[in-house]
Amino acid sequence: MSSPLLHAIANARDCASTTTDIDTLVAATTDPATDDAQLAAWLMAVRLGGLDDNLAARLCINMADSGTRLQWPDDGPPVVDKHSTGGVGDKVSLVLAPLMAAAGHRVPMLSGRSLGLTGGTLDKLEAIAGFNVNLSPEQAQRILADVGCFIAAATSTLAPADARLYRLRDVTATIDSVPLISASILSKKMAAGVSTLLLDVKYGNGAFMGTLDDADKLAKAMVTTGTAAGMDVRAALTPMNQPLGRSVGNAAEVHESIDVLSGKAGPLRDLVVDFAVALSAMAGTNIDTATFDRLLANGDALEVFTRMCAAQGAEMPLKVAEPGHVSDVIAPRGGRGKFDAHGVAVAAAALGATRVTPGGPVDSTASINLIVDDGDNVQPYDSIAVVEANDPEAVERAAKLLADAWHPAEQEWEFPQPVTRWVGR
Ligand code: URA
Repeated sequence: MSSPLLHAIANARDCASTTTDIDTLVAATTDPATDDAQLAAWLMAVRLGGLDDNLAARLCINMADSGTRLQWPDDGPPVVDKHSTGGVGDKVSLVLAPLMAAAGHRVPMLSGRSLGLTGGTLDKLEAIAGFNVNLSPEQAQRILADVGCFIAAATSTLAPADARLYRLRDVTATIDSVPLISASILSKKMAAGVSTLLLDVKYGNGAFMGTLDDADKLAKAMVTTGTAAGMDVRAALTPMNQPLGRSVGNAAEVHESIDVLSGKAGPLRDLVVDFAVALSAMAGTNIDTATFDRLLANGDALEVFTRMCAAQGAEMPLKVAEPGHVSDVIAPRGGRGKFDAHGVAVAAAALGATRVTPGGPVDSTASINLIVDDGDNVQPYDSIAVVEANDPEAVERAAKLLADAWHPAEQEWEFPQPVTRWVGR
């Protein structure tokens, strides 16, 4: 028996989808009576045949409209946000949100949790005693007005069509579809009332996209789709063959973020400041590097971070989870070496820093602190990292994995530029 949904599936199979098909598909997704099998068939058809940018934009808008749309008062400072495709030790959000707020922007940041090898911003913040990531819309409005930023979990009423399709993609091998990824990420930002968005698309062995070319394709599709959906979107392609900064894991990443918010220099600060300048240009506030450096050096950004934590329930003064067990990681050999991002992510997962299954536990204290820089020349048996967690066996396991993640580096190492390439205006 024919139906509009069956027709939409057939058109997707034949690479002949129309805007009406997209409308039909999203309406069906929000209807609990719709059979998952039909949605899964549509997803596989799109995974194999693609979807052009205008149809991906239609999918994005319809998914954003499938639930609550957050709105922020029009008469306040510009609203900006950043989304990362995920990397090892990527704690940029913890520094960038308060820095942008300190410079006169509003940042309503809805973030995710860790899964598999990927860390989650919410898990990092929950390493701070009392920090509450579940805000009511009223709390979110008040904190945004009073502090200028919050970092919280999305509620189940935000883009529910995306939530259903994402769950099905996870079990049908259809996650890795550029139009589906673009529409999924952008729909949640749109529903969260964000129209000025910087995308950090990471590439390398510690990222979702292995190569610069693949990251470039995703970035271009997301910028085109976002623009077609009426958003102001720009993307940065950033390297992820080595962890970002010196720490990986929840408590350690909070400590490192606070260090950078207190003015500490290094690759993390350089990346955050490049992003801040780009976002400010997009928002029309045109704040320069020197001003952002000053807001980090003079404590203004740290003060906003502390106020955000207090507004979200954190105990004052801030208390970060402390581990029960600690182990040194000894260099497996002497000479120049460097940490490999994927290997470090595997060690962090073994330590308990990320969750194995959705909703499973994480250890807030699970932390890796790298104590040598890539390219440093070390002596045999030097300590190259410190591993911490509550579970002593996990600590020993992770210490071994981390030693394996340190590979010889023949030449003197040069840190790559924070941003390899920009995509969009
Ligand atoms: N994150 C999302 O929210 N959606 C995707 O499709 C991939 C990553």
